[in-house]
Amino acid sequence: GRWRGWRSLAAELPEPHAALAGRALAVVTWRRTHRWCGACRTELADVPGETARRCPACGLTGFLPLSVAVLVAITRPGRAGGPDELLLVRHAYGPTELWALVAGFVEAGESLEAAAHREVAEEVGLAIGRPTYVDSQPWAMSGPGTLLAGFTATVTDPAAEPVVDPRELTEARWFPVDALPAELPPAYSISRWLIDAVAGPH
Ligand SMILES: [Zn+2]
Repeated sequence: GRWRGWRSLAAELPEPHAALAGRALAVVTWRRTHRWCGACRTELADVPGETARRCPACGLTGFLPLSVAVLVAITRPGRAGGPDELLLVRHAYGPTELWALVAGFVEAGESLEAAAHREVAEEVGLAIGRPTYVDSQPWAMSGPGTLLAGFTATVTDPAAEPVVDPRELTEARWFPVDALPAELPPAYSISRWLIDAVAGPH
């Protein structure tokens, strides 16, 4: 046997094995980083049969937390009868060479749809219509227990141009869906599924 990173496993393993590898990584990371009771500092013990840890002294029980993030494939109608256009962005951190989608974590007290509206407004300064849910994907690369929820949405003002938040993005640009750049997210990622959903596979 040999050690493998989750990214390469996710790219090669068929389901359900890729999802199982992601879950294993999430559980191991969560157990390593949740050793002690946050209320009374006693060492936590696993709860048999559940993804939970319980304090033997005060009974506090903690479950593996899920962090939910939303991704939004934003489109606008093409000009002069041309094909629709898709907004792609380059992030200031992570795989900076890829043209990706606007994305961000859901805040406490926020719905998925509200998070989609907020992230689009914050990252590229655009207003969108009601987001349409497409798909979801557990994602082991952004910390333990990350769940990505993917949406498509149309801008409310087709003439509006993106204004990037330089802390998050280096670039944002409209691309005709039949002329997307080559540097797209990998085929096993929900980002790519969403891009294919609006542009068709290519
Ligand atoms: Zn305790």
